[in-house]
Amino acid sequence: MLKRIVVFLITCLTFVWAMDMFQSVPEEKATLIQKGDAKRYCPNCGMDLVKFYKTSYVHEEHQYCSIHCLVEATKGVIPQKDVKVADTKNLGLIDAYQAFIVVGSSKPGTMTMNSQYAFSSEEDAKAFQSENGGRIVKFAEAYTIAQEDFPKDTAMIKAKREQNVYATGEKLYQNACETIDANRFATVAELKVSLSKSCRLESEGQYQAVALYLWDHKNVVVSQSEEKIVVPKDAKCPVCGMFVAKYPQWAAMIEAPEKKIYFDGVKDMMKYIFAQKKNFEKVYVSDYYKLKKIDARQAFFVIGANVYGPMGSELIPFANENEANAFMKDHNGKRVLSFSEIDEKTLKSL
Ligand SMILES: [Zn+2]
Ligand SMILES: [Zn+2]
Repeated sequence: MLKRIVVFLITCLTFVWAMDMFQSVPEEKATLIQKGDAKRYCPNCGMDLVKFYKTSYVHEEHQYCSIHCLVEATKGVIPQKDVKVADTKNLGLIDAYQAFIVVGSSKPGTMTMNSQYAFSSEEDAKAFQSENGGRIVKFAEAYTIAQEDFPKDTAMIKAKREQNVYATGEKLYQNACETIDANRFATVAELKVSLSKSCRLESEGQYQAVALYLWDHKNVVVSQSEEKIVVPKDAKCPVCGMFVAKYPQWAAMIEAPEKKIYFDGVKDMMKYIFAQKKNFEKVYVSDYYKLKKIDARQAFFVIGANVYGPMGSELIPFANENEANAFMKDHNGKRVLSFSEIDEKTLKSL
């Protein structure tokens, strides 16, 4: 109950904060032009386009949260056509080349210290300028300014992510998500959308933090997850009902097409496989010494040893045959088996 109240409060605060941001608009006022599940997010940085609508730009069927992200996506080469920008006052998308853009006003910028807001009429731009300051320029100059600010803004964004976003994202990823390979996605926005299936998170900010953490550490996180079987906190062994994350050194896993199934030992996994009478293609076990994730079909299993797992006698996996043999001798083991040699009799003998 308390948790619910806290979640509710956080949700409310996020909501209030989002509506308080100058860039934000009510959802029904935002014109989102992208297609697909990720249409609501900036393909360059993953940020929510309703939240940052007033600074958003459209180019080649992509919608960016800011001119900063447009500059990054176009690699600093100003597009000669096909650019639209949100009209800060009327909220439609307008031809950027015709727009009057106020740069450096007192209103906050998106991904930049030097804010930019566009208007369809010079009169509207002047009214905004007299209230908030800044300078009125055309698109070409606005792009050049964003390009000049780019290194400084990028450093600022990086510092902000390193100070807090990544740590938050990492913690949430480890506690509330299944293993995700960020390399599978074309954009951070697509990755962010997929998190709704793999994670249980509570706010847009949490999704953004996990998405950025994974996207900016793509290769590191993947190699970590390849090394070990990463068990979600709430995964239960379907055979005995125990929480598998408590026994990481015994973790075994079946990667079925629709989901991953975790076990607190090879014995329970084999029981499951025999009961299902299915040939699972991707079956993994943890090397007893190194805890490395290994393909069960390549592993060597020691049976009858005096080393016990959470479910008692076990089939103890090793990547290396010599290590399996040495372990068998040291621990009174009976035999070393390959995966295909394990049958229902083996399980009964344990
Ligand atoms: Zn962006
Ligand atoms: Zn079990």
